[in-house]
Amino acid sequence: MAAPTVRRVRFWAGRSALRRRSSAFEAVRRPVSSNCRSLASRPCFAPACTHCEPGAARMTARIINGKAIADAIRAGVAAQAAALACQPGLAVVLVGDDPASAVYVRAKDRAANATGIAAQTLHLPADTSQDDLLAEIARLNADPAVDGILVQLPLPQQIDPVAVQEAMDPAKDVDGFHPLNVGRLVAGRECLAPCTPLGVMRLLRGGGTVLDGARVLVLGRSVLVGRPLVAMLLAADATVTVAHSHTRDLPEACRHAEVLIVAAGRPELVRGNWVRPGATVIDVGVNRLPSGKLVGDVAFDECAVVAGAITPVPGGVGPMTIACLLSNTLTAAVRRRE
Ligand code: NAD
Repeated sequence: MAAPTVRRVRFWAGRSALRRRSSAFEAVRRPVSSNCRSLASRPCFAPACTHCEPGAARMTARIINGKAIADAIRAGVAAQAAALACQPGLAVVLVGDDPASAVYVRAKDRAANATGIAAQTLHLPADTSQDDLLAEIARLNADPAVDGILVQLPLPQQIDPVAVQEAMDPAKDVDGFHPLNVGRLVAGRECLAPCTPLGVMRLLRGGGTVLDGARVLVLGRSVLVGRPLVAMLLAADATVTVAHSHTRDLPEACRHAEVLIVAAGRPELVRGNWVRPGATVIDVGVNRLPSGKLVGDVAFDECAVVAGAITPVPGGVGPMTIACLLSNTLTAAVRRRE
């Protein structure tokens, strides 16, 4: 019972001391974190937790600014698109009225048009049959003004997303989900690669992370993120481990990683004491808490004082996904005109 008393006294002592100090100093020395788990075997690693201060690592991670890197990619795409004889075209297909999907589609449409790519959104009703959608895909495949086709997921229940992906012309498959593109990616050959993993790779390169020989752990094995990332990381000569929901002792597996990439879809799953000091942490997760707050799959505050570099949510991987969609559309346009 003595330990909680000590913590409370320190908390209030810290607060009264803080009132007398400058705001800059407050940022460095804050009261005991409400999440402090230091009574367990390790410090909690919360930012400037005075309770853990004597033993805690004081490392402050460099923030990898996804928005800045994405802006640079978008500027490059805009310059190259302007230099093409014909304007590249992107068709975005939205089936149904899922509000989140509508927001994503609008963002993609806006970003494409702002980059000099002629974007058109095809909004089909929620009860569209699979045959009708496949007919639209066939029409877009044959349209010479369309260089890239993206069908927004998830699709209504009556439509098999795999059938839709397979119906797409692989040369226009800017999402990189067609089996031909997936196979080429795994074989290390030229392809259109999925946008989110591609964005992660560009973030790592843009953030200066050396992958050659590095021990990288990918947490999550989805077709959308984890699996393509493994192929891309292997192509970059990294030593790759994949962890997932059946992995035993996940925290210990994470602690071995020099680069930790998390795509689990579990809010703040990765805690500070899962991270190897100095590691690069890439958080792919996007989760909306009941409070409305957007968080990743990584407990940012805890991990940022242990990692060497880390991506924020929002502002990390998210902007890269759209930038890579634009870049894939440009690539498809250039290749189709060669
Ligand atoms: P998914 O549900 O398809 O796959 C999640 C993977 O994580 C699975 O392989 C599962 O085995 C693993 N996993 C789940 N819970 C786990 C646990 N407790 N311990 C260990 N492994 C666990 O998800 P996804 O489509 O790969 O997306 C993952 C996250 O990335 C989501 O939060 C999603 O919103 C986000 N996402 C973001 C972008 C972006 O542009 N920023 C794009 C795609 C996905």
